[in-house]
Amino acid sequence: MNKLVRVLLFFSFLISCDSNSEKQQWQKGNLHTHSFWSDGNDFPEMIIQWYKNQGYQFIALSDHNTIAKQERWYELSKKDIENKVLEKYENAYGDWVETQTDSMGVRVKLKTFDEYRSKLEEPGRFLIVKSEEVTSSYEKKPIHINVTNIQEKIEPVKGSSVVEIMQKTLDLVHAQREKLGIPMFAHINHPNFGYGISTEDLKKLNGERFFELYNGHPAVNNAGNDEYDSTEIMWDLVNIHYLDQDKPLLYGIATDDSHHYHNFTADLSNTGRGWVMVNSRKLETSSLIEAMEKGDFYASTGITIKKYVVTKNQIRVEVEPEQGVHYEILFLGYKDGGEAVEILERIKDTKGSYTFQDNDLFVRVKITSDALKESPSNTQETKQAWTQPFLVKN
Ligand SMILES: [Zn+2]
Ligand SMILES: [Zn+2]
Repeated sequence: MNKLVRVLLFFSFLISCDSNSEKQQWQKGNLHTHSFWSDGNDFPEMIIQWYKNQGYQFIALSDHNTIAKQERWYELSKKDIENKVLEKYENAYGDWVETQTDSMGVRVKLKTFDEYRSKLEEPGRFLIVKSEEVTSSYEKKPIHINVTNIQEKIEPVKGSSVVEIMQKTLDLVHAQREKLGIPMFAHINHPNFGYGISTEDLKKLNGERFFELYNGHPAVNNAGNDEYDSTEIMWDLVNIHYLDQDKPLLYGIATDDSHHYHNFTADLSNTGRGWVMVNSRKLETSSLIEAMEKGDFYASTGITIKKYVVTKNQIRVEVEPEQGVHYEILFLGYKDGGEAVEILERIKDTKGSYTFQDNDLFVRVKITSDALKESPSNTQETKQAWTQPFLVKN
């Protein structure tokens, strides 16, 4: 190759790097869902098809204490018959459906993870990720931890405190990841469900990277109350502590925790309430996990971010606006010597930027709107989005 060609190739490489650095491909997914394999009220294929139809790129069915591996025949309840679950399932899947009828009634074979994945996954278009909601408790306090891309079932953990049970579960996830050499991660579910997990509990953990900032189930108290922190306050307090302890920052996820698929009302746990948008060109589990572990994703309850760029000096964000909706972009941060996460800048627009100041330690973006959610668990709920805290290197 002559010198001129090499120089030209080098410059075209630089130009392509530059344009790619701002090109983002957001993959939409829900990491918390239940089916008949535990306490959800529909068949896996029906649930997955809903997410596919709504334009999601990935889904994880995270049933309680199971990875849907064994042979299982599900007995239809009275409620299931009312919901016409079998009729709907047979209409959609025909001969794929396997049933048994005896004097006890009708039983339907629940397809295993491998079976439902082979039926519905489409490489490059729609991904199905294996998951389990490891469901433990301590003195009636629920301790639920999702494991995304789990490979071997983890049994619910026993221990003498909430923190011990959480830490033991996290350690089992890390050990499985290490042993198999397959990326997977734990995320703490709905800390305020039954007010089981406190801010102080989360502060004590080691190796905790993700938690549910937003969960769409109506019983999870995302907003807290007079006595308990909201999940967002919890997030900031934990991160101030993690920063002080040199632990990696905690990232916030939004999920549906969907259980009910036949009726849509605020007091049911329905689909489409909270999700993550992951910046990954490849729609593969390992790429999604890699991006999420870098904080290259945001949590949403309805707002779509068109562009999110972080450079050495600033954060720029732009919303994909809906007609007639008003947005507010909040840059929130923790400063050296500060007492709490504070508002650094408030912009009433669909785009804005924030330039880092000398004493900024971490900065995150929250976008709020006046658009009511289509299917809320709280009827006053408006659409929001949260990016991950960015550690400012001064
Ligand atoms: Zn749960
Ligand atoms: Zn759940």
